[in-house]
Amino acid sequence: MTKHNSFETLAVHAGEDPDQFAGSVSVPIFNASVFAFTDADEAAAIHNFEKPGWFYGRLGNPTQDALERAVCQLEGGESALAFASGMAAVTGAILTAVRSGDHIVAPAAHYSTTGSFLEFLESDFGVAVTYIDQTDPENYRAAIRPETKLLYIETPSNPTLKITDLEAVAAIARENGLTTICDNTFATPFNQMPLKHGIDVVLHSATKYLGGHSDLTAGMIVGDKDFVEKARLKTTKLFGGNIAPQTAWLVLRGIRTLALRMERHNSNAQRVADFLAEHPRVKGVNYPGLASHPNHDVVRRQMRGFGGMISFDVGTIDAGKALLNNVKLCTLATSLGGVETIIQHSASMTHAGLPREERLKAGITDGLIRLSVGIESAEDLIGDLDRALQNT
Ligand SMILES: *Cc1c(COP(=O)(O)O)cnc(C)c1O
Repeated sequence: MTKHNSFETLAVHAGEDPDQFAGSVSVPIFNASVFAFTDADEAAAIHNFEKPGWFYGRLGNPTQDALERAVCQLEGGESALAFASGMAAVTGAILTAVRSGDHIVAPAAHYSTTGSFLEFLESDFGVAVTYIDQTDPENYRAAIRPETKLLYIETPSNPTLKITDLEAVAAIARENGLTTICDNTFATPFNQMPLKHGIDVVLHSATKYLGGHSDLTAGMIVGDKDFVEKARLKTTKLFGGNIAPQTAWLVLRGIRTLALRMERHNSNAQRVADFLAEHPRVKGVNYPGLASHPNHDVVRRQMRGFGGMISFDVGTIDAGKALLNNVKLCTLATSLGGVETIIQHSASMTHAGLPREERLKAGITDGLIRLSVGIESAEDLIGDLDRALQNT
């Protein structure tokens, strides 16, 4: 355990424990689905969670544990749990917080598959959901009912970069005895630490910035020990969405450079956003780091940096698709948070299944482009976008 607490130092060292691993500085990959006990008493104690230890792959292993300790430290939490994907973390966290008959207040603008899951909970499992404009915390308060258990947050939101005031929503939750969960995928703990602002549970698609290299899918939740251990026993044990040991190791390796990468994602995205905001072919830019962002004051209070995600509007579906065909450096794909810049057109790709009216209500305009700004040269990226926009 390191004595130094700056994020940069923690990112490099969090979770390491060379004493436990024959001096190995890199945490070993435990390719094991089964762990033997020394005697019957130990078998009983570990099996019944009376003594810490490993016994079966679905319930963890030392590689997964190192990753969990690392992300826990980076988010400033008490306990963490790793999953095989971000959606396993989203569903695991939500199902730990609610049961049939409960009510959730959720943001209208959110990661689309989180929305599909909430609809599924509502249609098949009797959990009611109210969607609100998350940019005003009072909308959370106004939607609370006697059955409400959970205020769900995603800030900045995917893909419209809407901002929720974490402290204000945490205060409303405390007054009403409710749980708060915040999807921190876009910001990463380098830019935003929701637990410090009073949020109960943080979750990540570690597929994105924590992994950082577009080579894995994983998810994380961080919170107090009671919540996380309940999630471990209720969701990973029963549903089995646990992370594979190799994947846990890859996420941990990604985290070692998280601070460096986020610095460059932040500075590149700011330069690209400034460029796009001035471009005559661009109708509007969503980026928390622009003074023109409607919640820029909240951003300044709760974010250390403004992240690598931008969305901008080029007007029409045809212009959006033309831009995708005209870029050469930006990769046309549907993920984010990797070292390479990734571009997508929401109306024809991720949100093509939504009726236009509903899509517009969620802020996904016809020409909305989502850009995950990578760590290449900012000049090269601006050059690529400039040339592509001239031809669009
Ligand atoms: C990608 C993403 C998820 C889901 O993560 P997967 O790893 O794809 O399962 C959840 N929330 C946000 C904000 C995301 O961007």
